[in-house]
Amino acid sequence: QKAEWAKLINEKTVSSDGHHVELAANIGTPKDLEGVKNNGGEGIGLYRTEFLYMGRNELPSEDEQFEAYKAVLEGLEGKPVVVRTLDIGGDKELPYLNLPKEMNPFLGFRAIRLCLEKQGIFRTQLRALLRASQYGNLKIMFPMISNLDEFREAKSILEEEKEKLVTDGIKVANDIEVGIMVEIPSTAVMADIFAKEVDFFSIGTNDLIQYTMAADRMNERVSYLYQPYNPAILRLVKMVIDAAHKEGKWAGMCGEMAGDEIAVPILLGLGLDEFSMSATSILKARSQILRLSKSEMQKLAEEVLNLQTNEQVIETVKKFTKK
Ligand code: PEP
Ligand code: MG
Repeated sequence: QKAEWAKLINEKTVSSDGHHVELAANIGTPKDLEGVKNNGGEGIGLYRTEFLYMGRNELPSEDEQFEAYKAVLEGLEGKPVVVRTLDIGGDKELPYLNLPKEMNPFLGFRAIRLCLEKQGIFRTQLRALLRASQYGNLKIMFPMISNLDEFREAKSILEEEKEKLVTDGIKVANDIEVGIMVEIPSTAVMADIFAKEVDFFSIGTNDLIQYTMAADRMNERVSYLYQPYNPAILRLVKMVIDAAHKEGKWAGMCGEMAGDEIAVPILLGLGLDEFSMSATSILKARSQILRLSKSEMQKLAEEVLNLQTNEQVIETVKKFTKK
């Protein structure tokens, strides 16, 4: 099987009835680029920049960040690179920020919330990204967006930093797409409104499932409630994809679910444009999609959206894809 997959490294990901989707990789550092190349990634769908900030005693400088972003953009040679701005908080702490302990860190002061308050940190990262933008195909993505004001504020800060750089004579790409992660239910529900202002969505199912099911993704006691195929999740995913397409935008997914064997047929049927996963899952997913027909999977998606439980969805997908 591995040998079979290896032949697919330079292949496009096209369903049996001719529909193309993009299979991208999730990375944490420039060191992960080799894995992306060796596994036939068509882009980076999620660059988790937190790792630049972790395991050290102070914030990374603008230049240090610039070098990392430039390395990734150059390494991808013009293929799309979605960089997520700092998503710290929740399970990812930065001791040197000396933030007060919280009762519910996953519902607390994290990600874009922190960036909009501690704007120095945010602006430094955005400047590093903008300076790196001329070295490849950069897309910028804000994490944990829960309402439209947050997106507007983040985007206007980005515009301000861009303006400053341009005034200083620094070259900045002028076609940078700006999108959001959809990982909070309020944003999934309002996707039609967001779709008019963002350039793209990337669905973060790791968090979207925990917030929708109210089940901590780190807590074993409630892991039985962490149900990726619960029709509640699938319906939210559909809302997001449909909303994007209605406005001519694209929708991706960068949670674990994007590379999951049960989820892939449903996501193909729902019309997901980009699947971003750990690099080592890409060839397997590609080989799976090559054998699936999108129009058949549309029927499957319609069916599972009307089922009652997580288990029923799993069974139905298995039966349907064996036929
Ligand atoms: C997600 O929430 O699905 C996601 C991709 O982000 P992270 O796992 O880093 O929270
Ligand atoms: Mg997340």
